[in-house]
Amino acid sequence: MSDCLFCRITRKEIPAQIVFESDLALAFKDINPQAPTHILIIPKKHLTGLSVADPEDAPVLGEIQIIAKNLAEQMNLTTGYRLVLNNGRGAGQSVDHLHYHLLGGRRMTWPPG
Ligand code: 5GP
Ligand code: ZN
Repeated sequence: MSDCLFCRITRKEIPAQIVFESDLALAFKDINPQAPTHILIIPKKHLTGLSVADPEDAPVLGEIQIIAKNLAEQMNLTTGYRLVLNNGRGAGQSVDHLHYHLLGGRRMTWPPG
């Protein structure tokens, strides 16, 4: 059992505004939103990042994209949205439990900073 922050949110030991839950995945609002809609979507299984994912993790990684699509529809992100995964400190990862950011509700720029 991992005592990482997102594992503790998964076990409901730390409160979060959960917007979706399945057997394999959890989605909750980011505590420091970078857009009007900013949801984190995680596998319940502790993976430090995408770089340690195995082929056996493909089902939950695929499910997360469908969750993102469904949440984007529910939250009326009709003009567009972005699904971001930061892998490693150099990419901005600060929490070592694999997570995707679903961002929407404002104009996005490219390339990301
Ligand atoms: P990263 O920088 O690793 O890609 O993203 C980590 C995200 O987790 C950040 O956007 C940060 O605001 C969010 N975060 C950090 N601690 C908490 C927390 O305790 N609760 C929630 N809901 N989000 C958190
Ligand atoms: Zn974890």
